[in-house]
Amino acid sequence: MPRFDAPVQELAFVLDEIAGLAEIAGLPGGEEATPDLVAAVLEEAARFGGEILAPLNPVGDRQGCRLSNGMVTTPAGFPAAYARFVDGGWNGIAFAPDFGGQGLPWAVGTAVQEIWHAANMAFALVPMLTQGAVEALSHHGTAEQKRLYLPKLIRGEWTGTMNLTEPQAGSDVGALRTKAVPVGDGSWRISGQKIFITGGDHDLAENIVHLVLARTPGAPAGVRGISLFLVPKFLVGPDGALGPRNEVACIKLEHKLGINGSPTCTMAFGDGDGALGWMIGAENQGLALMFTMMNNARLAVGLEGIAQAERAYQKARAYARERVQGHDPLTRQPVTILHHPDVRRMLLDAKARTEAARALALYVAGQIDRARTCPDAHRRVELLTPVVKAYGTETGVAVADTAIQVFGGMGYIDETGVAQHLRDARIAPIYEGTNGIQALDLVGRKLLKDGGAAFSALVAEMRALDAPLAAAGAEVAGLRRRLAEAVNAADAAGRHILGGAGADPRLAAAVAWPFLLLVATATCGWLMAKAALAARRRLAAGDQAVPFLEGKIVTARAYAELHLVQAESYLAQVESGSTSVMALSDDQF
Ligand SMILES: Cc1cc2nc3c(=O)[nH]c(=O)nc-3n(C[C@H](O)[C@H](O)[C@H](O)COP(=O)(O)OP(=O)(O)OC[C@H]3O[C@@H](n4cnc5c(N)ncnc54)[C@H](O)[C@@H]3O)c2cc1C
Repeated sequence: MPRFDAPVQELAFVLDEIAGLAEIAGLPGGEEATPDLVAAVLEEAARFGGEILAPLNPVGDRQGCRLSNGMVTTPAGFPAAYARFVDGGWNGIAFAPDFGGQGLPWAVGTAVQEIWHAANMAFALVPMLTQGAVEALSHHGTAEQKRLYLPKLIRGEWTGTMNLTEPQAGSDVGALRTKAVPVGDGSWRISGQKIFITGGDHDLAENIVHLVLARTPGAPAGVRGISLFLVPKFLVGPDGALGPRNEVACIKLEHKLGINGSPTCTMAFGDGDGALGWMIGAENQGLALMFTMMNNARLAVGLEGIAQAERAYQKARAYARERVQGHDPLTRQPVTILHHPDVRRMLLDAKARTEAARALALYVAGQIDRARTCPDAHRRVELLTPVVKAYGTETGVAVADTAIQVFGGMGYIDETGVAQHLRDARIAPIYEGTNGIQALDLVGRKLLKDGGAAFSALVAEMRALDAPLAAAGAEVAGLRRRLAEAVNAADAAGRHILGGAGADPRLAAAVAWPFLLLVATATCGWLMAKAALAARRRLAAGDQAVPFLEGKIVTARAYAELHLVQAESYLAQVESGSTSVMALSDDQF
């Protein structure tokens, strides 16, 4: 099995040219991100991911997690690797220094996180959820909550979870029933059951900080009556020392299609008086607060898809270079399958799609850094967060599937390890809000809510690339034409939904998915075109990375030929509206 080599050159290029690292480093708080430091961080992360985390990926898949006497044991090697992860300071690289973070830009943290997800997605879920808990507490916690919990969470000595889902409350979070009753001293007693909780229990850290959505007495029904609570596994004294065990426990572990190294737990809160918890933020504001965590996690889940795509692509590429099958049609000599145009098509598609989705994710991560000083950047992040989540995760599944096809029969056999990437990647379009829910978010809360303002600003910016592309000449002429067509299609689709939503209440929901794919494809095409122009500029300036940079230009053209061309069909689906979707009666299905 080939080792995992993190795409350091590509990550550095996208950070520089798409996320805009130089500009971010010039913003207040960005000073740490010198080019040398970022290069060193990427190299070191690649080493840790390749040497420590990646070899544990098949181990985690085979062994899974075990529940015994109420304690979850992770696969062999995971606790030691996690200890090294914490000791290496990896958990806190993108958090503010106030509570022990290293203060590197979010974009750099995102690039590093892709490496963890590619090396070992099941392992990387624990730091990912801890990151969400840090974000939620940093924004909404009291001074005391921050003092007690943030340093340990940022360091990774304690880990975080996100407890939303209940058997009757999945996509419809408002249906949750977990209860919180005030004790009278500022604490609350939490009782109820949550299902599918990632990292709900494990042996990686000494404490687990559960963020739990629950209802207070008399709370309004639905999402307006949900509050957010912090419920530690072990109670924490005022001096930060660990006290007795709280009434929270994993009572069941799920057997799953993939990410077997990640414990997916049924959590019982309160088998007696109730687990002790403390409210975060204001009563009944829980869902809005949890969105701080969910938005963060949605970007990270999109990244999981991109990471699985990268890993599966690397395996398929290595196999295609070795596997001899068939002959060259001209010389009649035996050839590796990499010589066959159809295999090259699959690999090129996988490469183009992975690079495009990565460009999108790192672009949005760069906007998160800019959003600290720029409201427009914040609006761009909000608009594109569901797009990164959905397109990144669809990319993970599509590319892992293509990679198996490149392997032929061996792709279906466990020992090559490529099938694990498809099994692992398959959860990502489902959790953190299914991709269908992401599409509804894009149309309902982003497009329609502001009358298309944030979307129009994106369309205008994408159109502005036309002049530089025209100036770049014949090499990118096809890319330029396809991009203009795709941006026009996205614009037309947005207008169609904005114009028709009033008359047909089903329209927006019925066409949300092709609209999301259209926005994703056009935006990715735009970013790939930017990458092509940057590569051209670097080549003209005498940059020595010639094969890499020439490859970027070809890959951008390939994205246009394979994906931007689909924009017209997405537009046609949007224009078809809801009629057929709603035409069959329930029993005709
Ligand atoms: C391995 C794993 C780990 C998980 N980790 C966590 C975790 O750490 N914390 C946590 O709280 N949860 C977690 N989950 C739960 C996960 O977030 C939910 O499974 C997911 O949100 C979907 O909810 P559901 O399974 O109830 O599906 P449902 O909500 O029943 O959805 C079923 C289908 O109906 C569609 N649908 C539902 N409602 C609508 C609607 N209004 N409009 C259009 N389509 C709709 C969905 O898109 C989907 O296709 C995890 C799940 C798994 C499997």
